[in-house]
Amino acid sequence: MLRTVIGDLRSHIDETVMIKGWLHVLRDQKKIQFLVLRDRTGMVQITHWKPNDEDLAALVSTLTTESALTITGKVADNPSVKLGGLEIQLESLQVDNLAENPLPFEPFGDKDNLPALDYRLDWRSIDLRRTENLLLFRVQTTMEMALREFWIQNGFMEIHSPKLMGSPSESGAELFELAYFETKAYLAQSPQFYKQMAMAGGFENVFEIGPVFRADPSFTSRHMTEFTSIDMEMSWVDSEEDVMSNQERMLQYAYQRVKDVHGSEIEAVFGFTLAVPAVPFPRLTMVQAHEILNQVGYQLSPEKKNDLDPGAERAVGEYIKQTTGSDFVYITEWPFAIRPFYHMKKGENLTRSFDLIAGGLEITTGAQREHRYDVLVAQAKEKGLSPDLIQYYLDFFRYGCPPHGGYGMGLSRLLMVMLKQPNIRETVYLFRGPNRLQP
Ligand code: ATP
Repeated sequence: MLRTVIGDLRSHIDETVMIKGWLHVLRDQKKIQFLVLRDRTGMVQITHWKPNDEDLAALVSTLTTESALTITGKVADNPSVKLGGLEIQLESLQVDNLAENPLPFEPFGDKDNLPALDYRLDWRSIDLRRTENLLLFRVQTTMEMALREFWIQNGFMEIHSPKLMGSPSESGAELFELAYFETKAYLAQSPQFYKQMAMAGGFENVFEIGPVFRADPSFTSRHMTEFTSIDMEMSWVDSEEDVMSNQERMLQYAYQRVKDVHGSEIEAVFGFTLAVPAVPFPRLTMVQAHEILNQVGYQLSPEKKNDLDPGAERAVGEYIKQTTGSDFVYITEWPFAIRPFYHMKKGENLTRSFDLIAGGLEITTGAQREHRYDVLVAQAKEKGLSPDLIQYYLDFFRYGCPPHGGYGMGLSRLLMVMLKQPNIRETVYLFRGPNRLQP
């Protein structure tokens, strides 16, 4: 017999079916047993009248919640049953994996009494069973599919760049170094150089969704040492504006798709209505952002006086929300002093770069890149980078490289914002931080 998933049971009334899932609830009464089985598509009630089969009744009595079971039985329409007005009359039961009792924690217990996040991460295999998590990762799947759809409709190709590198791709800080035969290698901090190689390689428009590594020892609610980066790069841009306008339309497309597929579940599980953002998103120059901070009385620390810190991102985000209704805002014209050497300059001290702040959190850095060989070499030197170390990269710009730009966006940060989650550890499949390499 083929397995039927619980969500499809309504089309099998009066048939005997095989279903598989986790024992959600067992109510073992004097004459009758009620089991609720859960799979990724829903839950169903299974009923067993004990006198029908005493051996089967005895087996059911030994079951612990969250055990993995295969059940056969007849599907009956029963409007009085809360779970979809259906029940299954139990015929046979196979225990695929009996759950130990007690569980490390109760994944379907009172939401306000869940154990601490760190403990839940120790038991992530149980934590992932929670309704919120199943939905969160289904939303992630739909969103990534929508991003790919958008890119493919717009003439982008997907690349998979290497994560082992012979030299750093960003600054020397935050770099994981590892032994590589007789020499050293580094884990990629971003696919930046290789996305740009595709511009020199004539692909024109590329994207990559892949892992990046940052040896960042901080313990914030938005940093990880390994994360999934959503990256794109596009050729023949006139300025960074082309990149921003492509990104905002893509985000609007992805939000719309997630709302169409999961809007009502998001409302039921997370308790809010997903808003599809209007485009264009508001844009502020860094100078204007600082004027707003002055106006609202937000004080940047002296070392961040030309920059934004997380509090400033929140303050600007809030101001834009109140004044325009937008959850998203681009900050443009960042000083070259706090940007990487490959960002194109705008005038002497500024760059053609931007950050996207969403829900008060930085989710993207992007820019038009410097594609003129001599200027790029000069900018690398200005940042104290020896061109010899990155000559293989600089060579991309010697034989016909179009003007181009792109961005990197953290997948889990986007999910934090989309699903209003306070901590990135909740929105990544498995968190990696300075103190966490397991499970
Ligand atoms: P932050 O200032 O928050 O440390 P960053 O400026 O170092 O970020 P970029 O190098 O610009 O980040 O990376 C682009 C995007 O990648 C960020 O906007 C963010 O969405 C994501 N990102 C960067 N670092 C991390 C991290 N450690 N963990 C998770 N996501 C990250």
